[in-house]
Amino acid sequence: MFLNFFKQYFVLDDLDNDEKHSIRFRISALRILLSASLIAILGFTIHSLIELDGSEEGFLFLSLGLLYTIMTSCLMMLSRRFHRFASMALPALIALTGVLFIAISGTSNGIEFGVISLYSLPLVIRLFYNFKISLFFSAANVLTLVTDLYLSRQQDMYWGTGTLYMQLMLFALLNFGLPLSVSRMLKTLHLSINRLRDLADRLNHQSDLYEEIFEHTGTPTLLCDKKGIVLKLNQKALDLFPEDSANDIEGTKINDWIASTSDASNKFFWQKNVSECVLKSNTKSFLEVHRSSLTTHGHYVLHLQDITHLRALTEELETTQQTNSRLAHFDSLTRLPNHQNFCNQVNHRIRNVSDYYTGAMFIIRISQFKLLNKQYGREQSNKVILNFSRTLQARLSDKTISGRLRGVKFACFMPVGQTYLIQRNLRTLIKSVLPEQIRIGEDILNIDYQIGVAYYQNEGETAEELLERCEMALEYSTSAERIAFFDQQLEAKLIQEHKLGLALGDAIKNKHIQIWLQPQVISSGEIRSFEALARWRLEDGSYVSPIVFIRLAEELGLLPKLAENLLRQLVDVLEAWHQESIKTPIAFNLAGQELMNDVFFALLMSMTSERPWLSEMLELEITETSPVMTNPLIHKRLRALSQYGYSIAIDDFGTGQASMGQLIDIPANILKIDRRFVAPLPDDKRHLDIVKSTIQLARSLNMSVIAEGIETREQANLLISLGCDTLQGYYFGKPSPISEWTENNNEKAKQLRMVY
Ligand code: C2E
Ligand code: CA
Ligand code: CA
Repeated sequence: MFLNFFKQYFVLDDLDNDEKHSIRFRISALRILLSASLIAILGFTIHSLIELDGSEEGFLFLSLGLLYTIMTSCLMMLSRRFHRFASMALPALIALTGVLFIAISGTSNGIEFGVISLYSLPLVIRLFYNFKISLFFSAANVLTLVTDLYLSRQQDMYWGTGTLYMQLMLFALLNFGLPLSVSRMLKTLHLSINRLRDLADRLNHQSDLYEEIFEHTGTPTLLCDKKGIVLKLNQKALDLFPEDSANDIEGTKINDWIASTSDASNKFFWQKNVSECVLKSNTKSFLEVHRSSLTTHGHYVLHLQDITHLRALTEELETTQQTNSRLAHFDSLTRLPNHQNFCNQVNHRIRNVSDYYTGAMFIIRISQFKLLNKQYGREQSNKVILNFSRTLQARLSDKTISGRLRGVKFACFMPVGQTYLIQRNLRTLIKSVLPEQIRIGEDILNIDYQIGVAYYQNEGETAEELLERCEMALEYSTSAERIAFFDQQLEAKLIQEHKLGLALGDAIKNKHIQIWLQPQVISSGEIRSFEALARWRLEDGSYVSPIVFIRLAEELGLLPKLAENLLRQLVDVLEAWHQESIKTPIAFNLAGQELMNDVFFALLMSMTSERPWLSEMLELEITETSPVMTNPLIHKRLRALSQYGYSIAIDDFGTGQASMGQLIDIPANILKIDRRFVAPLPDDKRHLDIVKSTIQLARSLNMSVIAEGIETREQANLLISLGCDTLQGYYFGKPSPISEWTENNNEKAKQLRMVY
């Protein structure tokens, strides 16, 4: 403490580079000198006080001692605030003391004290002023020397060569030696100070430059030590951190603020060249930390790059890429692989399995989907597709690859063992995975399918080949056998069918398809009505079965146009008959597609309104297939036709899957027993039962019954005895061109009455 007081009082603390250096030095020197003088004076005063003997001289000394004590103390007090004055007053006091001692002491000791006081002046002066002033006092002290020499000589005291030399040496030492060497020292010190100051200035400048560079690097920059303690950050770096914590960052660990995204446990991520990080205070802010190390200092300069925006862009790009890839490879509705992706997956599977691997590829087509679309609208129909695909996927094994080809076609590829190489077994398996009913809003729909199957490896070695074969098989699926298997002849058949399709288009356009009539007779043998059957005669004279070309026309969407042509032909005949008052109705076959067609339906209705008798003369035969039975639009149109007075017959009854409810719902008044049930009669007991129960059913529903395909007298008799109203078959008459029935005043028709 004492030491500290000393240091402070004598201004000894080493603040060298302080601007007020020279002032501080002056105060320091003043205080040291004044303190030393005060101690000496105090000693002298105390001594004078002790030695006080009442003499005048004793009082003078004491008074002088006290006077000097006061003056020195005053100077000490003024030394800080009035250091200029004090530094002038002190030499003046010394000079005055010296002169006084020489002039009035009268003792050799007093003279010597005065001389030494004056001799000390150049050194004291040098401490406060420059060398020249000090030199002036040194020169002035020559006078002191001369006076000293003179006085010593006069008093004849100490005179001798030795004393003279001593006096000269003292003069030289105090007036020149010490001031000069102090001057030299001060000069050196001054130079050093200046040099240091210069250096400091340069350093400051340099540091300012670095500071400036650091601050304006353009990127957020951070300086940290080996341990990751943050030493400094520029403003841009500070801006990255939350405002309230920006001031707390310096001196803390970098890990307190930033964490690596790739490896959160990596505490030294900032030592890597580049690492992607996240701000701990805001996990949505991402940074890229680039390291550049300053090896001489062992510090790290880290450039922080805000990549939040970039990352968001990258993420967006990635999701876009994912979406694009999904769009490119998957069906957007069902999320099933699309055609290409399905093929790729199957091919990949095929490439990676053993030589003994067997599989089955099949295409499923939802039947009559166009009708569904039309009736329920696209959105609801899409729900059917979606429900179908979900059920299918849930029922298929994990090993099955499935996909949506397009529209209502789905493809599956499943590995199958030996048992399923038997078609019957595979058929059962496929049926078991297909949903039979699908809910659509409130309604539950019966869904029908057509399926084409091809085996791997027998019928194809790649997905594309197998799919092609499945497509061919699909073409050959029928309403009776919905699952069709590919076989080698199919291919040729298909090509032929394609040609046939082209020819059919021409035939319809050129109205080459004709109506033939087959009679329907009552039990007395009288013709009750005819059935109109379409006939297509090729150029070579052969006929194409209507079963073939009606299905083909249906597939090619040509059926409404064909039906329109046939209807016009038929109405022409009926028109003529009407003129002649022939009242034999003709039944016209409708497969369903015609009734769904607005143009055809409008034509039928306009013909009806133009000819009020038409509904009496034209009967309609609707085949019992499920789309017809379940389609509300067809129901609606049939009801309308029934209200106009049309008779409606359900054709091929018992072959479709119509439920009793659906049957009641259709406004039909005739049931036609299919020839499949009639042909085995009369011997087959089972078929007989079916026929019997059908007739009973018709009666209970108040419908009349037509049995078709009667080829023998026995069959005719049997059916009449069972209560069948009307009979149709080769036994009564084969279908013949209309002209045959009408020529010669309808001679053939008249003859027929004689047959039975
Ligand atoms: P369908 O409506 O069941 O017609 C009866 C079929 O049985 C006719 O065959 C007829 O010639 C045949 N048939 C009649 N009696 C006998 C018989 O005693 N023995 C044998 N074996 N067959 C007999 P067709 O003319 O070959 O017609 C086949 C199917 O083609 C028809 O079956 C019908 O579904 C369809 N069809 C024919 N013409 C048309 C048409 O104009 N429009 C529509 N939509 N379908 C038609
Ligand atoms: Ca028919
Ligand atoms: Ca029939």
